[in-house]
Amino acid sequence: MMKQYIEEAEKALLHTYNRYQIVLDRGDGVHLYDLDGKEYLDFVSGIAVFALGYNNKAYNDALKAQIDKLIHTSNYYYNVPAIEAAKKMKKISGMDRVFFTNSGAEAVEGAIKAARKYAYLKDGCTDHEIIAMDHSFHGRTMGALSVTGNPKYRAAFEPLIGNIRFAQLNDFESVKALANDKTCAILFETVQGEGGIYPASKEFMEQVRALCTEKDILLVLDEIQCGMGRTGYMYAWQKYGVKPDILVTAKALGCGVPVGAFLMTEQVAANSLTSGDHGTTYGGNPLAAAAINIVLDLFEENHILENVHSVAPYLEEKLDALAETYDFIETRRGAGLMQGLVFNRPVGDVISRALENGLILINAGTDIIRFVPPLIITKEDVDTMIEILERSLV
Ligand SMILES: *Cc1c(COP(=O)(O)O)cnc(C)c1O
Repeated sequence: MMKQYIEEAEKALLHTYNRYQIVLDRGDGVHLYDLDGKEYLDFVSGIAVFALGYNNKAYNDALKAQIDKLIHTSNYYYNVPAIEAAKKMKKISGMDRVFFTNSGAEAVEGAIKAARKYAYLKDGCTDHEIIAMDHSFHGRTMGALSVTGNPKYRAAFEPLIGNIRFAQLNDFESVKALANDKTCAILFETVQGEGGIYPASKEFMEQVRALCTEKDILLVLDEIQCGMGRTGYMYAWQKYGVKPDILVTAKALGCGVPVGAFLMTEQVAANSLTSGDHGTTYGGNPLAAAAINIVLDLFEENHILENVHSVAPYLEEKLDALAETYDFIETRRGAGLMQGLVFNRPVGDVISRALENGLILINAGTDIIRFVPPLIITKEDVDTMIEILERSLV
């Protein structure tokens, strides 16, 4: 049955992904099941999305209740779920104002527009620059692609939006060298995801924050992947107390319902986007907002951050042990339940064998296996994962 569906998919879908040859059908907790009923332990969670695990009853019930009440209104009217979600997001982030989007890339687009408008209102010019980082990933739309530091993703789509400069994460001098009077924003992921799981250092964050404050440049942190509890903090920058001017979030924010948001301080909000400057039809509709509300409620009720703090060191220890045992594994790096195991060779075969053995993993670049499991995993799940991974290594 799976084979037939896959053949049909190959005829109907645009070939922008090399998909693994399984059709997923349902999920429960940390497990996924394909159409043949085969069980997989999931250490990807739909790319750092399904933090609460699959088939969570409270989450499903909240969505069903909202579906029966009201799904969409447009942003010309208020709706209660969006108001509640905005209040909760202010609380968990310490930011002041929220704009809801449908995806991460769309939230990055909004952040770029806000930063440009902020600078435009200061000097009336339209030649402002943004400093982004090599190895970064911010999404596939034209603006988000423009700040994505991987030439392979950008090349065919040039010209993209201009005046983007690329520096190196954790190399403050490389950032400082590019900063000038035209710089309107410095943008990076607090932990780089697709580019290879590189956490920004405390020192780098503090130095960039100080530079931004001194020159009135906006610090924009993309926490689409590393935010929402993944590192043990609602947002990864909270560990360092280095607050951005604009925060970009998505992925686990809706735990499966497509939502994103960019948030800003009052100071930026009062001096950037204003009525008529930006919009979205779906963004923050009652169904999407209901998802955010129940996700944030369940994060508290289920002590998600505590679980990350308790399981992540165990995962790190086990991955470190693998890196020590096998000479083709170079190192482990990451933060919380966002970890990368760095090989000295491509990891595609290992990931395929793991899939055959009932474990879902994903890469980050060709040589790195990425671990972004649901945030509800237990130490026993880590043991099972390590056991299957070790069997799949050679
Ligand atoms: C996934 C991701 C994006 C893009 O989000 P989409 O919802 O796929 O548009 C942007 N930035 C980072 C850091 C991401 O991980």
